[in-house]
Amino acid sequence: MPVLLLFVCFFLFSCAHQQKDAPTHPTPPPVESALRAPEDEAPVAAQPVAPPPDGTREAPQTVGSAGEQKPPVKETPRTLLEEALVMVKNNAVQKRWSARQDDIAVYANFSIGGVKFTAVYDILHASLREGGYFQVPFLIETSVTGETLIGNLDWHIQHDDSGVLLSFDDDYIEAWEGAFALFDRYGARVTFFVQGKPLGFAKRALARGHDVGYHTIHHLNLSQVSRAVFIEETTSEIAAFRKAGIPLRSFAYPYGLSSPWMHEELFHSFTILRGYGVTFRLYDAAAIKQGYIAAKAIDNILYTYDKDFHAIVTLMLRAVKFTGSENILPLCTHNISNRADWGITPARLEYLLKAAQDLKLKFYCYKDFM
Ligand SMILES: [Zn+2]
Repeated sequence: MPVLLLFVCFFLFSCAHQQKDAPTHPTPPPVESALRAPEDEAPVAAQPVAPPPDGTREAPQTVGSAGEQKPPVKETPRTLLEEALVMVKNNAVQKRWSARQDDIAVYANFSIGGVKFTAVYDILHASLREGGYFQVPFLIETSVTGETLIGNLDWHIQHDDSGVLLSFDDDYIEAWEGAFALFDRYGARVTFFVQGKPLGFAKRALARGHDVGYHTIHHLNLSQVSRAVFIEETTSEIAAFRKAGIPLRSFAYPYGLSSPWMHEELFHSFTILRGYGVTFRLYDAAAIKQGYIAAKAIDNILYTYDKDFHAIVTLMLRAVKFTGSENILPLCTHNISNRADWGITPARLEYLLKAAQDLKLKFYCYKDFM
């Protein structure tokens, strides 16, 4: 995949020295010094490519017949590349993302005058400037010649509909309740997928603006039980919850394991079903309302070191905000504890909440999509 390859190259380029002296936070690449000053450089090698841009700007170079004095062709591709640079700087191209687990690439494909360009943004190393905006280093490559330019994009964070959809599974009620004040501090609303019978916790969580979904009675592997047990585990307590004033409209599969027939069955009782995985995925509200989403796990067991957790959270949340005003990132974890493998430390949770708040991301609950 050219985009992925390009990203890898750019990443290696920008991080080459950081791999060695790692464990601290990586420093931004020396973008300014790497930015080419085109006028100081020798002309690019003759380009067999780059047809003139739709005749809008420079006079189209007439393709001369033999013997005719050809105008210098060196300016055309260089100008196009510079034009591409301006387009990216002006945010005039559509930004996209791709991801495989935690490898998240943010890029744009566009063309000028028939020449294709790819811009790859290094949002992880964006730096916060005075005035509260980010400078995002990027690299542009022409698809035809492979020629590249590096620049910086000024990124001003706006309020919009982008956000995070954070949820907690299982039955860590004391730890969750202990974090209510922390959630309040960042204006965060979250969803707790609880087990068993209705408890006072669910009412108190709802009263504080959070949401409560269901996570079965006994946390069995639903792919290994009979249909009767499946129904019992997933639906037999719903009426009791609703009678207690807990709507219970969303459901999280234990271990994230599901099958189409389970979806079909559960849509009779729940509006949104949630799976679980390690890959970064974004949704918009309409996609969430379709009924099934997979949340990205952020448990301690997946990130041994805080610095790795901080980096992936920074990268993910910036990708959410940077690539679309309606992007929503479903995240999930379990306990809130310094010791739990399946859970998040209070410090990591606070890092996540603060990072989301700083990026003006909304905190969504599952009930917001019903
Ligand atoms: Zn669970």
